[in-house]
Amino acid sequence: MEKLLGKTREELKEIAVSAGLPSFAGGQLARWLYVRKARTFDEMTDISKEGREALKKSYVTGIEDSCSVAESSDGTRKYLFNVSCRVGDRMEESAIESVVIPDEDRKTLCVSSQAGCRMGCRFCMTGRQGFHGNLSAADILNQFISVEESDSLTNAVFMGMGEPLDNWDNVSRAIEVLTAPWGFAWSPKRITLSTIGVIPNLRKYLESSRCHLAVSLHNPFPDERLGMMPVQKAWPVSEVVSLIRRYDFTGQRRVSFEYTMFSGVNDDKVHADALYRLLRGLECRVNLIRFHKIPDSPLEPSPAPVMQRFMERLNNHGITCTIRASRGEDIYAACGLLAGKHKEKEK
Ligand code: SF4
Repeated sequence: MEKLLGKTREELKEIAVSAGLPSFAGGQLARWLYVRKARTFDEMTDISKEGREALKKSYVTGIEDSCSVAESSDGTRKYLFNVSCRVGDRMEESAIESVVIPDEDRKTLCVSSQAGCRMGCRFCMTGRQGFHGNLSAADILNQFISVEESDSLTNAVFMGMGEPLDNWDNVSRAIEVLTAPWGFAWSPKRITLSTIGVIPNLRKYLESSRCHLAVSLHNPFPDERLGMMPVQKAWPVSEVVSLIRRYDFTGQRRVSFEYTMFSGVNDDKVHADALYRLLRGLECRVNLIRFHKIPDSPLEPSPAPVMQRFMERLNNHGITCTIRASRGEDIYAACGLLAGKHKEKEK
């Protein structure tokens, strides 16, 4: 059965016509899926019964419940979803995670874009898990619809499991549905995509959307970054920054750089100064992130005073830099810790 979630209004019109409905029923389907979040065709009462029965023969809505939710002492909630993804010529069952982070008047959804990840960053639990397939646009949008906070979400960050620009077709389709007037009708200002810098698709993202951008930088020195992030070989961070400089971030659209701090690895003043030289003149923000230790890794988090000094050094250089509060550590929902635990236990 094919899922309707993730289809554009034009595609829904074609599907409506193929089910013997008038083409305007495509608009009704879009409203039922993206505004009213209907789980079944029976709820779609302004579509004829015959039409609904015809749709049921080939389609499902694609809206599916999470299989578990864990709540942190700080109010962060982590949802687990079962997904089925194509890997080569076979389908693979996996578990993916989404996190809802409440913060004063904001509720941010941290969205996954892949089951696992093939980028292999050394400090990341998702990377260790290997790659288990791209999420479909339906799987991505279902995270927005099926968390309990769906109607009160204020923002979303593509910062969960996977590299969103390694799944560009489905991520761009999901963003189209999220921001279209016939879809979720979210302002692009509510969405941030976080990437390690997959340049060809980064260019497409910057051209086609007005959503914000976050770049996982983590080290300004090419050789050191390569040791942590294999992506540096194909797409050096200097080229990522050069590309970003060609776009306007002085208005509503923002770019930030994520910098996870590892003790004795990337937290010296020479790193702060090189970071400044790399980003000099760019309207941006640097977010320092405390590393959450992962099993069987020698990497340690930088001590708080070291992070503070690093932040002050960048601020003194004129770069806006903040230390990002860590959320949801007790339920393994913090940065770099998402790993589909449920699936691991099942194995
Ligand atoms: Fe993939 Fe992001 Fe983890 Fe790197 S940090 S392995 S890109 S999920």
